[in-house]
Amino acid sequence: MNRIYMDYNATSIMNENVKNSILELLSLPLNPSSIHSFGRDARSMVETARKNILELLGVSRNYNLTFVSSGTEANNLIINSFKESRILISSTEHPSILEHSKFMNNIDLLEVDNNGIIKLDLLTNWLKQNPSSLVSVMLANNETGVIQPLSEIANLVHKYGSFIHSDIVQAPSKIKLDIENLDLDFATISAHKFGGAVGIAALINRSIYSIKPQIIGGGQEKGVRSGTQNVAGIVGFGVAALDAMDLSINTEVLELRNLLEEELIRLDPSIIIFGKNVDRLPNTSMISSRNISSKERVILFDMNGIEISNGSACSSGSVKSSHVLRAMGFSNEDVGGAIRVSLGRNNKKEDIYKFINIWRKSYE
Ligand code: PLP
Repeated sequence: MNRIYMDYNATSIMNENVKNSILELLSLPLNPSSIHSFGRDARSMVETARKNILELLGVSRNYNLTFVSSGTEANNLIINSFKESRILISSTEHPSILEHSKFMNNIDLLEVDNNGIIKLDLLTNWLKQNPSSLVSVMLANNETGVIQPLSEIANLVHKYGSFIHSDIVQAPSKIKLDIENLDLDFATISAHKFGGAVGIAALINRSIYSIKPQIIGGGQEKGVRSGTQNVAGIVGFGVAALDAMDLSINTEVLELRNLLEEELIRLDPSIIIFGKNVDRLPNTSMISSRNISSKERVILFDMNGIEISNGSACSSGSVKSSHVLRAMGFSNEDVGGAIRVSLGRNNKKEDIYKFINIWRKSYE
């Protein structure tokens, strides 16, 4: 069966040129710390990739980029850097931010509204009481695609003398990025979400602020992240960044997403599309219907050749109900019936019609 992939927010399909750039390097002895010519070549490849990624993010020399192993590691690095400060995080963050609140007693949670947008009045009150703190709010939510008003948030955070980090992992290749204009101090990005390989990511920081290393060793990445760099992965990351500057595919992706949502509403006007009336990523749709559970629907789609998700599969592959939708105030029934569709460049109109036909089966 020809399978149809509609789970790009979980991980994207690797770009062909990224794959080729990685394969070319895999068997070479590339350690950027070596003095010999392989080492020098490796160093230059890493620096080219760093420059390309910073360009994608729209930042100047005022920012540093540290390569790490995953978005999860980058998020851990920033939270651990502010261990001695108060930290405010939104209640819809990815677990690599959110779970820290269970282990650390310096973290407060910021409520979101029914659309998943953080409450700015609560943020303001918190900032007044907690100067010189860290606020971490993601740019786009991985489950709903809802985009936060980050520029406004950063303005407020700076007005009250605090620092702003954003997990922008879901944004590259889907929306335009301008980290400097958004006035972010720190940001997290991960290659596999936009055509790069799994296992390579980065933390970006305004150069005037330092990061406290959590992995100690040979002092690679200016001492912020020891461990020999994953040169092939980094080169692929750089290639994916160049590709991600072209956002033209998103016009088509958005049309497909709109078609999917319109057809679904026609089929069943009682469905809920989360965050439908606010700014969202063009490829993401989180949908709930009470007729069957999200687990049953994901399995039904899988058996019919389409890969979707319930939005928050945990590491064991089991299905956990969405903390994002619960934070948005939805009932257990609505949360229990929610699935996520995240489209990408390989999807076609026929895929959407097949999707609708399978959804129709769930009422039989
Ligand atoms: N942040 C967000 C918003 C994500 O969607 C993910 C991946 O699911 C991560 C962080 C973690 O990234 P990685 O898979 O590279 O650890």
